[in-house]
Amino acid sequence: MLWRPWDNLSQRNQLTATDPITPTVGRQWTPPPPLNSGRAMKYLEQLCAIGSRTTGTAGMLKQQELLKQHFESLGGTVVFQSFQHRHPLTGQPVEIKNLIVQWHPDRKERVLLCSHYDTRPFPDRDPKNRRGLFVGANDGASSTAALMELGHAIRDLDIPIGVDFVFFDAEELVFVEQNGEYFIGSTYFAQQYVEEAPPYRYRAGILLDMIGDKDLQLYYDEASFKYAPQLAREVWDIAKGMGLKEFTPRVVHSIRDDHLPLNEIARIPTIDIIDFDYPTAASRTRSYWHTTADTPDKCSGDSITKVVAVVLEWLKRQK
Ligand SMILES: [Zn+2]
Repeated sequence: MLWRPWDNLSQRNQLTATDPITPTVGRQWTPPPPLNSGRAMKYLEQLCAIGSRTTGTAGMLKQQELLKQHFESLGGTVVFQSFQHRHPLTGQPVEIKNLIVQWHPDRKERVLLCSHYDTRPFPDRDPKNRRGLFVGANDGASSTAALMELGHAIRDLDIPIGVDFVFFDAEELVFVEQNGEYFIGSTYFAQQYVEEAPPYRYRAGILLDMIGDKDLQLYYDEASFKYAPQLAREVWDIAKGMGLKEFTPRVVHSIRDDHLPLNEIARIPTIDIIDFDYPTAASRTRSYWHTTADTPDKCSGDSITKVVAVVLEWLKRQK
């Protein structure tokens, strides 16, 4: 994911130092059954224990096996969408694999829930060790763990539509921040959707990214609000109805993420639920983002299940 400073946002929407930070500490949260915060956190830890999960590496392969086994045991159908791409460092072909979990694959009307599952090759914003180990607890693992947790609730959901979880590969197979190629997996997915149109359609999509932060603060991002304002409002309204103050219905960040190809190429109205401030806006100069400090201890199972609970409620309202 790439972040653009607020150069093109109106003054009104800018986050200032005087903005209140939502207090999340000390408030009790019990996720609706069958969701479980402890289990969601265990998934996050399990993914991080693999180590780096960069595209085309042994760690990614391990993760793919883990996810395939997990979702098949829950009754999902797992398929891989694979293609070759030029590796940005070696110039050699590397296999990119989006992992798709289909629930009720026979249904023609579907929704898309997605996350990137590759981790950045290196923590290139680390103040000390830019070639250290990057495990992406929040950036990669949290949203992947969220869908693992949501998997427990999908099969028995009484809705008339199909659901696909899509884990995008090569969201950030990026070695140099400024001229890296982002969203390789999601761009291919979106192109295939248009060029080899499947016998079903996606009515909407929700992308999850960086939703594990203990200090969860979720705002609209600019592109989500531009391409899918109704969906954004729906989701933030649901959160409000559930009393989740972590969701603030206001555009703050301009985020470039996997939702762009889905909106711009595939024309699937898709929002990004993302907490870019890690941990807080006030700490931006020492953010954990893309550093060796993006580790499980900065994350919380409650943050994950809060987002999952909202997505689940949104699914339940699909007719
Ligand atoms: Zn990242």
